Amino acid sequence: MKSHPLKSISILVPMFNEAAVLPLFFETVEKVLAELPEYRFGYLFVDDGSTDGSADFVRELARRDSRISLVVLSRNFGKERAMLAGLDVTEADATIVIDADLQDPPSLIPRMLALWEEGWQDVYAQRSSRAGESWLKRSTSRWYYRVLQSVSRVSIQADTGDFRLLDRECVMALRLYRESERNMKALFSLVGFRKIAVPFDRDRRAAGGTKFNYWKLSNLAVDGITSFTTLPLRLSSIIGVIVSLAAFVYLVVIVVRALIPGGESVAGYPSLMAVILFLGGVQLMSLGVIGEYIARIFSETKARPVYLTSEVRLGTPGIINQRG
Ligand code: UDP
Ligand code: MG
Repeated sequence: MKSHPLKSISILVPMFNEAAVLPLFFETVEKVLAELPEYRFGYLFVDDGSTDGSADFVRELARRDSRISLVVLSRNFGKERAMLAGLDVTEADATIVIDADLQDPPSLIPRMLALWEEGWQDVYAQRSSRAGESWLKRSTSRWYYRVLQSVSRVSIQADTGDFRLLDRECVMALRLYRESERNMKALFSLVGFRKIAVPFDRDRRAAGGTKFNYWKLSNLAVDGITSFTTLPLRLSSIIGVIVSLAAFVYLVVIVVRALIPGGESVAGYPSLMAVILFLGGVQLMSLGVIGEYIARIFSETKARPVYLTSEVRLGTPGIINQRG
């Protein structure tokens, strides 16, 4: 690696069908970067299987501008994996992960860089408001973070997305986590390092629609929990023990009552049904929980690649893996 007087910063942009906002995105970020001549910036666009020509726009930019790198994934792998694809090729001194839809305000970049210079290694943007998101989405997300925090030992940053500046050391650490059921928010917390928040107001999307629906979000939420903690497994065993103890006590009561002369023996259909249904429910739930973890073991043991690239076009600065 050649040494250079200026520190290199890579702007990592995962994108999936963002052609409508890319020109505005590029223009907006350019304005911010123009105010920061003391750094060497490079763009690293990761095209996550877009079908709307997002990659063509970037190719066109790259033709005129050597700061632009493009990694094209062979299909849509999801944002979590697209980010890893970007982290795998960046070798800048710091990498800024930012959404293409301008919901992550580029105007925060100077502040992030200033904190990085102070020695912070993971400068994450923290939402203090979320415009254009429904009450349901906001409250489910709030509760999700609360639950996740209470069940895991590492501290989790609430109201944070993936918009953050990562020091090279953080990037190196994140590369070591190759699981394919990824939840970046979990991983950012797991790797540790010196973290600091930068509060901001989250804007509406500049154009296009969200790429996440409740189905994708709830999958991400389950991945978050199962990749952080095995507490649900423990919980289902505890519930199992409590319910079996209660059932055993009840069993004794029933047997004793049946043995006492004159005690009832056949009545009690309602209580019987109640117990059977309750136990059945608890069993199914525990099986489901175990199944969630087995599913993860299954997909990890296959050790499939986390993503595949169909094109890697590397510009300067701060990009590695130049295989020619
Ligand atoms: N994204 C991606 N792959 C996907 C879905 C989304 O790379 O499968 C990108 C998308 O292009 C955007 C960022 O991830 O740059 C955030 O997506 P989106 O704005 O749809 O999410 P939201 O802001 O609604 O959480
Ligand atoms: Mg968005």
